[in-house]
Amino acid sequence: MSYTLSAAKLQTYHRCPRAYYFRYERRLDGSGFYGSTALGTSLHQALAQIYQDWHYQDPVPRLDWIEYCWNQQIGDLTSNQIAEGRAILRRYYYSFIASQSAMRRPLAVEGRIQGCLQVENLEFVLSGRYDRLDYCGDGLELIDYKSAKEIETIEPDEIDLQIGLYYLALEQRYQRSLKQLSLLYLRTGEKFSYTATPGHRQRVEQVISELAVELRRDRRWLPVPGTQCDRCAYARYCPAMRQEPEPLPEAARPEPGLQLVLSLN
Ligand code: SF4
Repeated sequence: MSYTLSAAKLQTYHRCPRAYYFRYERRLDGSGFYGSTALGTSLHQALAQIYQDWHYQDPVPRLDWIEYCWNQQIGDLTSNQIAEGRAILRRYYYSFIASQSAMRRPLAVEGRIQGCLQVENLEFVLSGRYDRLDYCGDGLELIDYKSAKEIETIEPDEIDLQIGLYYLALEQRYQRSLKQLSLLYLRTGEKFSYTATPGHRQRVEQVISELAVELRRDRRWLPVPGTQCDRCAYARYCPAMRQEPEPLPEAARPEPGLQLVLSLN
């Protein structure tokens, strides 16, 4: 019996337990933000192939290797998307591959990691995905490619939770510490790196402990009103927003009873 947690779930809980309750406990549809686009998916796949299938006998591939990988991934894209993707990957090539003395072979590309944590007799499975895992000194660097048109504003608390979750999971999987999380914006060629420390892992353990108490005992799911309410998909059901919130739709998952709480998934 386990309870699966992702960085997105932890971030939602940290932002507002009531929103977490609506989304993950009662399974109400969210706004579907951050959905991936066909172009974004093809870019991710091309980058995975660039690193995974390169023979590494020559230190730096030529641009035609990047073109070749892109041509394998264009599938159903429109001609505009194909041209846009090609331009994005060329920029990437000159910014992050051709400018290096050698392209380093990553530990892994396009993968999933899982870690476990026992709190309050609940087993949490921490699940995350990554675009690329590189060696970084005696630790690891996790690379997350971003294909969005604009650079997102990420709250420091939220990135800290993401780092902490990966820290914990990678330590268990590879017995190496996460040293750095890097967000790589493909459209602008910018890279933002965040240093990871054991403090990030402790922070995640603390938030998971709070969530465990909520799941096991409290089940109060207190709303935390803030700027996020403006784009919250659940505002009409929220007692902090309306004196008379709408009842949840019938399609909502029933409130789990105590015995269900013990067999969460
Ligand atoms: S409207 Fe605000 S307080 Fe209510 S659930 Fe959404 S984020 Fe939380």
